[in-house]
Amino acid sequence: MSIVIYNTMSRKKEQFVPIHKGEVKIYVCGPTVYNFFHIGNARCFVVFDVVRRYFNYRGYKVTYVQNITDVDDKIIKAGQEQNRPPMEVAEQFMQAFLADTAELGVVPADVHPRVTDHMDDIIDMIVTLVDKGYAYTSDGDVYFRASSFKEYGKLSHQSLGDLQAGARVEVNEKKEAPVDFALWKAAKPGEISWASPFGAGRPGWHIECSAMSRKYLGDTFDIHGGGHDLVFPHHENEIAQSECATGHPFANYWMHNGFLNVNHEKMSKSLGNFLTVHDLTSKYQPRVLRFFLLSAQYRNPLNFSDDLLEGCQNGLDRIDTSRDNLLFRLDKAAISQEHQVDLSSQKNAFMKAMDDDFNTADAISAVYELVRDANTYLRQDKVEKAVIEQYLELLGEMCGVLGIDAVKRCELIDADIEALILERTEARKARNYARADEIRSLLTEQGIVLEDTAQGVKWKRE
Ligand code: AMP
Ligand code: ZN
Repeated sequence: MSIVIYNTMSRKKEQFVPIHKGEVKIYVCGPTVYNFFHIGNARCFVVFDVVRRYFNYRGYKVTYVQNITDVDDKIIKAGQEQNRPPMEVAEQFMQAFLADTAELGVVPADVHPRVTDHMDDIIDMIVTLVDKGYAYTSDGDVYFRASSFKEYGKLSHQSLGDLQAGARVEVNEKKEAPVDFALWKAAKPGEISWASPFGAGRPGWHIECSAMSRKYLGDTFDIHGGGHDLVFPHHENEIAQSECATGHPFANYWMHNGFLNVNHEKMSKSLGNFLTVHDLTSKYQPRVLRFFLLSAQYRNPLNFSDDLLEGCQNGLDRIDTSRDNLLFRLDKAAISQEHQVDLSSQKNAFMKAMDDDFNTADAISAVYELVRDANTYLRQDKVEKAVIEQYLELLGEMCGVLGIDAVKRCELIDADIEALILERTEARKARNYARADEIRSLLTEQGIVLEDTAQGVKWKRE
């Protein structure tokens, strides 16, 4: 069995064949850090975290790169509105991105390259494109000439002619054609900028990913991912820039996650219908949010609803209870190496689902099947230690791939923590120090750090 991936480029499921045997190089477009990310963005981060975990599980050596866009119009605007330097805004929300994805159990990328640390690589690529005649300078800006790349439109399956006809006639006299796009933007007065052979300015969004993926993964790599809204123009433009600059194919497989919707409409900052993970974790355990994001195959739409989240909480409880019961019976079970149980069909069901374009919905069903079988087994009077260990091991493997394993993460939501802190304060007032200490250690166990200050008790997650 091998892994099959739906490739946006061919619009077909294809068998995955790596460039180098046993290795997979993945690039996923990361966040623009001007605000907390919403649960829609989180779908992309969690889905590709599972793709990466599954390749690891199947024995591949994975190199995973995800950029951080830390200079951009939106960041500059946020800085102006908040009257602080744009780099301060970017730093704050990059840290928030790392913290909130960690809460969701996302393993940090092997590299999280930041645009502002890679200006030389970006400028070098733009210079190459200008030198080769694929790009032109215009009044301090640099544009990519879309018509110079004969395959422009191949990812989004549009012809250059259609794109030209459909392009909005923008008031931008600097461009030769409306479909051309910016590689470099001349600095406006007072704006943050970097020196370049074309004058002071900053890069366009698309060129960052071309330059940074090349630096860390080479001219051609295995998988490029992102949300479906990035197919056009972002990924189309990345392909044009990279293939024209290097003369080699860019990425072999293009994976795009479907949208997370609210009332069947895409969750987005511009529509204002978004819920940030930062806020949602005060209501739901991050593990429940993660489980919810994996409850549909990644290309299908997923609608946000409290009912679905409640269902996910129940599902996780079922899995946790089964694991707890297995652990409980393990100590008391008869020791035997003789009896083994054949769990290959359960394991195969899980792998079949994941091999089929990372179908986490079916993979979760396979976890439930295993849990049901384990519970049936535990109903017997006499159980064997070796068999319980087999169930625990397979359950651990499956939950590890999905990232819902029982790694010690805080199980408490903000409201629970605050209620416990209040109870501790009351206990101290009543001189019930034993209870107060008990609450402090319970919170410490959950990774909650308390600080007694003159203004009251402050707390943070470790
Ligand atoms: P952005 O910071 O807006 O560039 O988004 C970061 C990632 O989240 C990109 O890969 C987007 O395609 C993806 N994304 C944005 N909105 C949604 C949504 N509602 N559902 C799923 N993915 C999304
Ligand atoms: Zn990108």
